[in-house]
Amino acid sequence: MAANTKLSIRLSDDISLTLENTNVKGAIAAIEEFATYFGNSECGACQGTDMQYIHRHVQDYDFYEIRCRGCGSKLEFGETKVGNKLFPKRKDKEGNYLVDGGWTKYQPQGQQGATAPAGGGDPF
Ligand SMILES: [Zn+2]
Repeated sequence: MAANTKLSIRLSDDISLTLENTNVKGAIAAIEEFATYFGNSECGACQGTDMQYIHRHVQDYDFYEIRCRGCGSKLEFGETKVGNKLFPKRKDKEGNYLVDGGWTKYQPQGQQGATAPAGGGDPF
């Protein structure tokens, strides 16, 4: 491994990652971890690319999500039990893949939208 190596990786239009003094294995691990969060640069609902990165801390829990400024949909992230890494929530609690790659739009209680709420229309 060469000393003082610098590696710049573009993750999205807005975000680049610069790694210093790493090797190929370290670079791949870092790119994978950062790209999981910052590489989701296109909304699964409207294909917009104007993203807002959100962290909320509520009652001892941390919530991480990406929100689309175009249509208001959001992609929520969970945390792995081991390794303290984030992963996009693309499946429901039963393990079924969500529509639009997990991007969901907030719908006020009692208001039915074009997309049915989870559990409302299982294709079994
Ligand atoms: Zn959108």
